[in-house]
Amino acid sequence: MTIDGAKGLIMDEPLIFERNSEGRSGVLPAPCDVPEADLESLIPKSLLRDGAAGFPEVSEIDAVRHYTRLSQWNFGVDTGFYPLGSCTMKYNPKVNEAVSRLEGFTMLHPYQPEALAQGALRLMHELEAYLCEISGMDAVTLQPSAGAHGELCGLLMIAAYFKDRKRPRHKVIIPDTAHGTNPASSHLAGFKVVPVKSEGKGVLSASAIEAVMDEDTAALMLTNPNTLGLFERNIKEIAAIVHKKGGFVYCDGANLNAVMGLAKLGDLGVDVVQLNLHKTFSTPHGGGGPGSGPVGVRKALEPYLPAPRIRKAGKKYSLVYDRPRTIGRLKAFYGNFSIMVRAYSYIRRMGGEGLKRASIVAILNANYMKERLKDTLSLAFDEPCMHECVFSDKLQAENGVTTMDMAKRLIDYGFHPPTVYFPLVVPGAIMVEPTETETLETLDSFIEAVKKIDAEAKASPELLKNAPLNTKVRRVDETRAAREPVLRWKG
Ligand SMILES: *Cc1c(COP(=O)(O)O)cnc(C)c1O
Repeated sequence: MTIDGAKGLIMDEPLIFERNSEGRSGVLPAPCDVPEADLESLIPKSLLRDGAAGFPEVSEIDAVRHYTRLSQWNFGVDTGFYPLGSCTMKYNPKVNEAVSRLEGFTMLHPYQPEALAQGALRLMHELEAYLCEISGMDAVTLQPSAGAHGELCGLLMIAAYFKDRKRPRHKVIIPDTAHGTNPASSHLAGFKVVPVKSEGKGVLSASAIEAVMDEDTAALMLTNPNTLGLFERNIKEIAAIVHKKGGFVYCDGANLNAVMGLAKLGDLGVDVVQLNLHKTFSTPHGGGGPGSGPVGVRKALEPYLPAPRIRKAGKKYSLVYDRPRTIGRLKAFYGNFSIMVRAYSYIRRMGGEGLKRASIVAILNANYMKERLKDTLSLAFDEPCMHECVFSDKLQAENGVTTMDMAKRLIDYGFHPPTVYFPLVVPGAIMVEPTETETLETLDSFIEAVKKIDAEAKASPELLKNAPLNTKVRRVDETRAAREPVLRWKG
């Protein structure tokens, strides 16, 4: 027999299959009140299972405890600080969750006649307008399911634009600081990727773009602020170079949390941008759950937006499918609607000034972290940063301590490790994004933990090699876990 409580009242929990006890059940089905039929008369024998499915047989309380216990092992923004750079893991106010759960939204069927879905259409239409205002674009589609999906959407529209003019272009310029999804999306949309290096201070120079921009280049794809947390300050000059050769400027807007109300990407020369509602606009991000990656475009690309579009005529909203130049449909129905509800509610609740303040505080928090840690961790670029800052393990490496060791040790101190080893341009990168929702006390306690770990790196580096020490599962062999995943219970 095993005893459940492993650490205080944090329970051990085996696989649900190991809780199996034949004949045990959590439900009591009502007696059958229709004539029983032989299965083989209903389903062809070749499609029938040989035996029982092998589902675990457990009682209701077994099932409830199983999932509740596993949930208690989980870590999320609701449990603690989660400073993942490039991901904007901020706290999402619960009021927006509550609004997204209103029955009028959750019980709406996607095939409901337009006349009975006017409220939903209005919400989507207004959300499009808000996102246009925030990004400085002329039109927005809400269809894509996530950031990468939005990138694909934007690039397909750019490809369609050139194809339409019978002058297809084949290349997309992407800086070395880009998120991996940028080259992947470009490739999927049929483009060849032309890499370009950021200059000494971590941002793109106009001359670097001038050197590679030509008339076979469909777009420059950049991220602003970039993944080093730096604002691409030459963006207007760079955009002018791209435009002069007839290309488009695509901005990966995943880092919008740093510029809301401070800079409109459209004013900076951007022609296409995807926004990650699950980062900036109050949908929990990182659980692998549904996301939403609306794409904003300038007038020139508007005809290519996915169908259907929402039209407002008088007080009536309708869906327009007849769009001869559209790239088509990217998703069933209209996109991930409940995420749009959260974003709408968040924007309405915050207001323009509130959004601007969120960005300002996000920048302030990141710079506070940077200044207080820059003597402890090597700073990749000692520049004022935007919403995130990038350190490395250069100083600790002298004692044989790596970014991975420090990341694992942070877990012992109750912090989710930041993003590590990204962006690739900084060896041993530690990328911290505190976001606007963390308090000064939380930032200080994180800083304290990093300083303690630095002291440990000097005094007892071997201890860090074994971290985490206090978790249920100790350091895992991540390479092996990725190469030889064991996903099936061998009962
Ligand atoms: C998160 C992120 C993406 C991808 O967004 P998904 O919603 O995860 O597909 C792209 N670019 C940057 C800079 C990001 O941070």
